[in-house]
Amino acid sequence: MGPRGRHHPWVLLLLLLLPPVRAAAAARPNFVLVLADDLGYGDLGSYGHPSSATPNLDRLAARGLRFTDFYSSAAVCSPSRAALLTGRLQVRSGIYPGVFEPGSRGGLPLAEVTVAELLKARGYATAMVGKWHLGYGENGSFLPVHQGFDHFLGVPYSHDQGPCQNLTCFPPPDTKCFGTCDQGVVPLPLLWNQSIIQQPVSFPDLVPLYNKFSRDFIADCARRGLPFLLYYASHHTHYPQFASRAFAGRARRGPFGDALAEFDGAVGQLLQALRDSGVENSTMVLVTSDNGPSTLRMARGGSSGHLKCGKGTTYEGGMREPALAYWPGRIAPGECHCHPGTAPGECHCPPVTAPGECHCHPGTAPGECHCTPGMAPGECHCPPGTAPGECHRPPGTAPSSPGDRGHREGPGMGHRTKCVTPEQ
Ligand code: MG
Repeated sequence: MGPRGRHHPWVLLLLLLLPPVRAAAAARPNFVLVLADDLGYGDLGSYGHPSSATPNLDRLAARGLRFTDFYSSAAVCSPSRAALLTGRLQVRSGIYPGVFEPGSRGGLPLAEVTVAELLKARGYATAMVGKWHLGYGENGSFLPVHQGFDHFLGVPYSHDQGPCQNLTCFPPPDTKCFGTCDQGVVPLPLLWNQSIIQQPVSFPDLVPLYNKFSRDFIADCARRGLPFLLYYASHHTHYPQFASRAFAGRARRGPFGDALAEFDGAVGQLLQALRDSGVENSTMVLVTSDNGPSTLRMARGGSSGHLKCGKGTTYEGGMREPALAYWPGRIAPGECHCHPGTAPGECHCPPVTAPGECHCHPGTAPGECHCTPGMAPGECHCPPGTAPGECHRPPGTAPSSPGDRGHREGPGMGHRTKCVTPEQ
């Protein structure tokens, strides 16, 4: 039996830090928890990546709070997620040091109190979409519907934990998934609560399904006046990356960039759904990642930026994560340097950049680009017609990062430091 009543889930901690609520509607705010998969500290435009196009996430960073010292509890998936949902170090629930496999018999103990159970007991509607990875169990006994979530649409573990060599990851044309993924196990299933509704998963169709599920859930809760928790556990950026037709082949950063762009688009759709349902101002959105980037995957993994190593290590790159908190009217924009004449709400938060780099806020009008301190006047202008998120390079540099497109993986493409990063 878990020690109920002695937990410190992140939601309660955040609630304690928030100012006292006044309006009844705000007394029970909604929560949207977005967890990226293997996304590194250096992967987002707002954290300094020179060729990632993440306009929606960058907008969250600019209008919310961008954390620069935010850590996951573990360097691999299952332990990190166990701690995130329970607020307890993973060793206390026994979810360490590795991850669950398709044939694993165990799961997050049902006696553990998840944030979903905590909020459900307070009248919240709860839903989870995406990657669970906290156990399947006999007859699905460890799935999210047994851990406080009213609804679940997603996959039970990592999407490379099933053969993928004949599956399409990017359409069109029919681009097969990179690599073979795990062999000798069942094809990856897509679950609706406890029922398998597709097997193997159709990767190009997956995120549109996730987005519709999320939108419908938010709209339904708003219509019924129910406070809600939506846990959106994306796995787009985990190896092998995939994307739907709308995002395939578009990114300057190659397949990883396509997957990241679709993740960014999903966040944009979540925010639009909150606005459309009239609950944006009563919802706190928190975005972070389960662990650092899979640096041994080279261009097929993410970037830890200037941090050492990545996933599977306890170096900074393995556990220090990007994290954004957004709640209009409650969370003031963090560090922010505004260009003279900038309209209210358009203020830019400086990304983590080297001196001389210049990042334009998506949607900035031509000529309105902001320079980081130290830039000489006139050195930071986005050319007219620049697409959102495309103006992230200092003058005179190459238009794309080497090796970002295609399968060019090899020496020099990964992190300078040799790391031991078991694939989990
Ligand atoms: Mg992960």
